[in-house]
Amino acid sequence: MNAIVNIGKIFKFNGGVHPPENKTLSTQRPIAKLSLPESLVLPLRQHVGNIPKVKVNVGDHVLKGQLLAEAEGMVSAAIHAPTSGTITEIADAIIPHPSGLPDHCITLQPDGLDTWIAHEGVDWRNAERRLLVNSLRLSGIVGLGGATFPTHVKLRPDGKSGVHTLVINAAECEPYITCDDMLMRERAAEIVQGIAIAQHFLGATKVMIGIEDNKPEAIVAMQHAVANTTMQVVVVPTLYPSGDARRLVHLLLGEEIPHNKRATEMGIQVFNVATVLALHRYFDFGEPCLQRIVSMTGNVNQPQNFEVLFGTPLSHLIQAAGGAKADTTHYIMGGPMMGFNLPNTNVPITKAANCIIAATPHLFAPPPPAMPCIRCARCADVCPVSLQPQELYWFAKSDNFEKAREYNLFDCIECGACSYVCPSNIPLVQYYRYAKSEIIASDKAKEAADLARERNEARLARIEREKLERAQKHAERAQAAKAESNKEVGAEQQATPDNDAKKAAIAAAIERAKAQKLSNADHEAKPDVPAKTSPSIESEAVANADEAKKAAIAAAIARAKAQKAAALATGEAPKNVEFTSKAVQQEVADIEARRQAVGLVPAEQASSVQTDKQAAIAAAIAREKAQKAAAELAKLAESSDKKE
Ligand code: SF4
Ligand code: SF4
Repeated sequence: MNAIVNIGKIFKFNGGVHPPENKTLSTQRPIAKLSLPESLVLPLRQHVGNIPKVKVNVGDHVLKGQLLAEAEGMVSAAIHAPTSGTITEIADAIIPHPSGLPDHCITLQPDGLDTWIAHEGVDWRNAERRLLVNSLRLSGIVGLGGATFPTHVKLRPDGKSGVHTLVINAAECEPYITCDDMLMRERAAEIVQGIAIAQHFLGATKVMIGIEDNKPEAIVAMQHAVANTTMQVVVVPTLYPSGDARRLVHLLLGEEIPHNKRATEMGIQVFNVATVLALHRYFDFGEPCLQRIVSMTGNVNQPQNFEVLFGTPLSHLIQAAGGAKADTTHYIMGGPMMGFNLPNTNVPITKAANCIIAATPHLFAPPPPAMPCIRCARCADVCPVSLQPQELYWFAKSDNFEKAREYNLFDCIECGACSYVCPSNIPLVQYYRYAKSEIIASDKAKEAADLARERNEARLARIEREKLERAQKHAERAQAAKAESNKEVGAEQQATPDNDAKKAAIAAAIERAKAQKLSNADHEAKPDVPAKTSPSIESEAVANADEAKKAAIAAAIARAKAQKAAALATGEAPKNVEFTSKAVQQEVADIEARRQAVGLVPAEQASSVQTDKQAAIAAAIAREKAQKAAAELAKLAESSDKKE
């Protein structure tokens, strides 16, 4: 077909590479419908999100299009029977995944009748949008460009998506893959119908279909199909990875979607051409997602695109393509840039399988041994996300994952452009995948630890709260009991006739206590009886006695002085010291007698004091008085001599 290709206004993104396309291999024949295989193995995990819930049992006979597993949770997708037959097994089987590990699968043995379940399309233009979009959960449709994100999540049931531009991704930039190209060539009108459905649900006012300029037939077919619509076919230059959704948005609209935002937040939604075709089959015919177009290419005898039921073994597809050539060593699912090796030819075709390449060492030479990074920065030049691949490599290699995250490791789309140009043959993408998986595992572990800690804190808080509640209940019960008791006592007091007698008894008891207190005071004064009086009363009594004693002694001394002065004045010989001492002793004896009389000092103690302490005091005072008297006599004698 002679195609007229006009490249419209486009906005080039950073980087990109031009690997050999090898697309013509599989575009020489039209899309073929694959025959029914002997059995279909349907992995439950064919999409991004939760595993769907199985709704059938082993032994059940099912019809084509019947629900086998329903979507579980918001992000999930249903699985349907690709043909009529019997469920023979629900168990683990090897699935097409880089890990090569088995996963849960439903095995269906076709009955060969291919009998459909009752199904019909809907008038989607006039039906309630909410019901239609919600019903998409039952369709099993996911992004068929390879992302496998459930489509119902991308359409808002309330019609308020805020999307103004719908971008249809028909770039198909990766080498070897031609399924979208062939789909557009052969089914452009159906694709446009699917685009109209998506546009209707999104409320988008603008539709742009981005196709690389290496697909002239597809471009022409699509241009014809959109001729009577407002949809626009935009031809973009062939450059890997222009098929990445963000790169395509940049190419078509010149908008750079920030790494922390989604396209829908900027009013843009992106759908693959195969996905919108599936929307058309579902809404216009009631057919759930049961099959897809797969490019079977590479080292097979008749590379071709096939319409393949999900669950078909790869071996069946290889056979349909004329078988693999003898030197085929392995099979790659996806393209050579982002694909991965399949473990064997028994793996089933799934919703993500857009291309299978039979590989040989001639087509894909084993990579030479990696050499040290020479810091040439070629990887940075081609990175479409404007990352620093060599820095990410160093961080991943040294397990410095946090630093890798800081350098936006998760913005890496694993396109492999950096590895493709690296002169040191470093498998850079493998390093990035390793670092990402480690970070994800670490985040999950941290999340689990945080959850455990929160649960423990909640448990401790609950225990503390229950303790407080118990204490409060006890306090309330005690208070209630006390109030009850007081009420009973009051009632008893009111009911007793001899209340006065009780009061009298209480007064008598108080009197007895007072008497006991006085008795204790007496005992305190006796050395052989333990004191029971309070310390304050005892010290007060002693202080009073000392003051009285001091006053009496001072008075006695004053009288003695007066007597001496009078004797000297009358010319009588002064009395000696013995006189004074006796007077003082007499005074002391008088004081003690008075103290005894008022009960401050018992008689026995008074006698003891007189003989011990008071005798010592009296002796000291006597000595002092004798000295003073002698001094006064000497003064008087001297004064008398001077007068004479
Ligand atoms: S291209 Fe390879 S050698 Fe060059 S800087 Fe990047 S990682 Fe290093
Ligand atoms: S694989 Fe990642 S780092 Fe390498 S070029 Fe692609 S986006 Fe950039």
